[in-house]
Amino acid sequence: MKIPFNLPPHSQNEEKYISQAIANRKLSGEGSFNKKVVEWFKAHLGCEMAVVTPSCTSALEMAMVLADIGPGDEVILPSFTFTSTANVIALYGATPVFVDVDPKTMNINVDAMEKAITPKTKAVMPVHYAGVACEMDRIMALSEKHGFVVVADAAQAIFSSYKGKPTGAWGHMAAYSFHETKNIVCGEGGALVINDARFKARAEIVRDKGTNRQQFLNGQVDKYTWQDKGSSYLQSELAVAFLLAQLEEGEKITSHRLTHWNQYHQGFADLEKQGRLNRMQIPGDCQGNAHIYYFMCKTAEERTKLWSFLKENDIQATFHYVPLHSAPAGIKYGRVAGSMEITDDYSARLLRMPMYADLTKEEVSYVINKVHEFYK
Ligand SMILES: *Cc1c(COP(=O)(O)O)cnc(C)c1O
Repeated sequence: MKIPFNLPPHSQNEEKYISQAIANRKLSGEGSFNKKVVEWFKAHLGCEMAVVTPSCTSALEMAMVLADIGPGDEVILPSFTFTSTANVIALYGATPVFVDVDPKTMNINVDAMEKAITPKTKAVMPVHYAGVACEMDRIMALSEKHGFVVVADAAQAIFSSYKGKPTGAWGHMAAYSFHETKNIVCGEGGALVINDARFKARAEIVRDKGTNRQQFLNGQVDKYTWQDKGSSYLQSELAVAFLLAQLEEGEKITSHRLTHWNQYHQGFADLEKQGRLNRMQIPGDCQGNAHIYYFMCKTAEERTKLWSFLKENDIQATFHYVPLHSAPAGIKYGRVAGSMEITDDYSARLLRMPMYADLTKEEVSYVINKVHEFYK
């Protein structure tokens, strides 16, 4: 049995919708599938606006432009995240300020975040690791007190929720990813969700190469011109047609993943009791989306050994991230605030199990059995 780490999900209507997009003779980001997906986000999240983007990275870039992030500004984020979260800050000449994570969730430690706030703090970027939401109520309360913008990296968080509200509805802005490694995919893709109306008017201009083309299309002006900084942040109809098919089956895809997640969680309970490993946890305020199933090995050496053992048995487990504060660009562009003890220790011991919607019960059992065999 060969078990890859990830396989992109497949839904019923992908080919049909792409054919419709082709027949519509409208392939840019202004087509009807883009409109439908934006409506889907508004209905699902209750957001003010959404832009389907070429990636989560580009959605985060667009958020930096909207939050007016520039030289002299600081943006606080966890060091334990994917490169994109910090890269967009450095790209606009601001300083990423790295803080430690909470060992329970690997999400930003809000106490450490609060201590890292300075008069230069222009934004914070919580990352919902594994799709499990950060403590957004505390983060939003701090943002009200200190006046910074909250841009959530919700790359992994589609169909998860916090305090009964979809995770992407938290924060002034939130960015999703639909890269093929995520729960819902369209190859390469993302979305910027705008939950705060003050960013709406500029967002229409920033997404469209800095022009007021939308006002022109609405018949509000008779020609469009360069109005503001911007870029090309719209996604092609072909990818968005695929995305709509996936979103329509999103609940089903998520429930398959949750079934596998629960099977892993029960399957490793005895090993946790025996003190061999520690399973991931989901706080009571959070409903997960099974983006990742991970556990913590006891030591970094043991993780490497287990990873190799699984690989020999055709199971592709993976680890991540190399903490950004110790990566070459992190050292060059960023700064550390406070201790990085949890990030350094836990990131060296975390191991992720294969996870995708099409896994079978037998395949998950096979992985669970091999992990047990290792610890025998
Ligand atoms: C996947 C991921 C991204 C990048 O998403 P792209 O759509 O590939 O740009 C950013 N942040 C986190 C936390 C991710 O997991």
